[in-house]
Amino acid sequence: MGKEEELRYLIEELRLLSDPVLKGLSKNLVPGEGNVNSQVVFVGEAPGRDEDREGRPFVGAAGRLLTQVLESVDLHRSEVYITNVVKRRPPRNRPPRKGEIAVFLPFLRRELEIIRPKVVCLLGSTAVRALLGRPLADVRGKVVRGEGWTFFCTYHPAAVIYDPSLEKVLLEDMRRLKEIINETER
Ligand code: URA
Repeated sequence: MGKEEELRYLIEELRLLSDPVLKGLSKNLVPGEGNVNSQVVFVGEAPGRDEDREGRPFVGAAGRLLTQVLESVDLHRSEVYITNVVKRRPPRNRPPRKGEIAVFLPFLRRELEIIRPKVVCLLGSTAVRALLGRPLADVRGKVVRGEGWTFFCTYHPAAVIYDPSLEKVLLEDMRRLKEIINETER
């Protein structure tokens, strides 16, 4: 089975998923998207309003900033793969709860297994906590190896919209990420 087909099965399972823990979330599914052969996978938190409406990750303000930041290091949206820990929108954009994260995490792990990127870039504290069990402040700008993956951790673009003084660091982190991608073997 090719990667696209494996991902189609995964998305179908996600669509059929009916766990009582998820009852507060939007009914709409926002699966990951992008190049299934990407060297890097970006992992955000959960869909927001725009993503919920369009059924695609990172298409609102945070997504526009992510696209710009990627372009700044000559990475283009169409060549990378972008996904979220939680794939349905929490009400009023509240942070996803532990139980919700626990239901979606095995799907994220399978998504990574299918794509097998060189580097998994965790955007913000929810993704970092979910996959590494550590606070973002401990690992931001760092490479962390775990579960057989090379993780790189940086700010979520929404945090940078909220506090523009973080943008410089996000841009520096992206430059570092690019180097790590080039240095890492698959
Ligand atoms: N924030 C996220 O974490 N993910 C999205 O898809 C959009 C905004």
